[in-house]
Amino acid sequence: MGVLGSGQLGRMFAIAARRMGYRVHTFSPDEDTPTGQVADREVRADYHDLDALARFAREVSVVTFEFENVPSAAIECVASHVPVRPGGQALHIAQHRLREKTFLAGKGFPTTPFLAVHSRSELTQALARLGYPAVLKTAGFGYDGKGQAVISRPEDAEEAWRRIGAVEAVLEAFIDFEREVSVVAARGLDGEFAHFGVVENLHRNHILDVSLPNAPVGEQVAGQAVEITRGIMEALDAVGVLCVEFFLARDGALMVNEIAPRPHNSGHFTFDACITSQFEQQLRAVCGLPLGATDLLRPVAMVNLLGDLWQTGEPHWEAACADPDVKLHLYGKTSPRPGRKMGHLTVFGADRETAHRKALAAREALSGS
Ligand code: AMP
Repeated sequence: MGVLGSGQLGRMFAIAARRMGYRVHTFSPDEDTPTGQVADREVRADYHDLDALARFAREVSVVTFEFENVPSAAIECVASHVPVRPGGQALHIAQHRLREKTFLAGKGFPTTPFLAVHSRSELTQALARLGYPAVLKTAGFGYDGKGQAVISRPEDAEEAWRRIGAVEAVLEAFIDFEREVSVVAARGLDGEFAHFGVVENLHRNHILDVSLPNAPVGEQVAGQAVEITRGIMEALDAVGVLCVEFFLARDGALMVNEIAPRPHNSGHFTFDACITSQFEQQLRAVCGLPLGATDLLRPVAMVNLLGDLWQTGEPHWEAACADPDVKLHLYGKTSPRPGRKMGHLTVFGADRETAHRKALAAREALSGS
């Protein structure tokens, strides 16, 4: 198995793959990475180094990725030696918000109202059409709220344009949503489809904080969210795992916020809590194996552990693990910067609310409070 990228998603993928007897090679510009620490081989080279990419590709049977901002020339190079799944098209679209939204809207999937912005004057025109508040986002390379600015009044426009770096952007209407939800799904080589249901996501500072499966959205909305996800995977002819993040508006309308053509943070609970995890599902899909069952074994909550937790020293791991229903995941990252995803907890409970409460308590216990 070849993995482009070397973060925690690749690490959990590699654990799933090695459990099933596969060998894993990872490729990224970094060293001693979360994926490299558990892979058979860690290749350190630049994504623009086509010779290194070709050597990497020749040593594996199939390549997938855990980081979607790999340059398209790198994907093309690898794809000329071995299959890359999902293919370059899914990646090309998901790398760029404007392409992504234009693609989705063009195929009839519901998105947030948006307009393309290429200049300061286009921003003024777009604000006049979409109204206030609105969110300005860079078209390329954004994640976890990076490269975003909320514009509440005309006077904010100048500062927002400057803050995102005066680059190609998307202006979106600000959605006063009831909830944020996501669907993580897998699609096999033969078109087989499986999903992990609708997950409710709570954010803090634009970064995912808590995920709770079985979002209380009603059967109709849940069915729609799954069908939109299936439709997007089919439209992209995606083989692998893909996550669709949605806003659920107060009137019950679903709008796609963004798609990620890989396992997703909101699916981490599946690693402990489902018969088949999103990582094993990615492995099965890209290897052409049948997909596994996605049943949730017990009610569960996932909370992220960010670098902020280390601010007053090493977290109290034993305090969190004192609850036997807590599973601790750490990604092997050495520098705990604020906002950096260092690990997560999956916490089981008798029901959704209990799992959520226990998860927050376990994280609190980590900082000794
Ligand atoms: P993104 O990086 O686009 O997923 O944005 C990160 C988070 O910012 C989302 O999960 C939302 O909580 C918030 N956000 C982004 N876009 C909007 C929007 N158009 N309306 C309201 N909140 C938004």
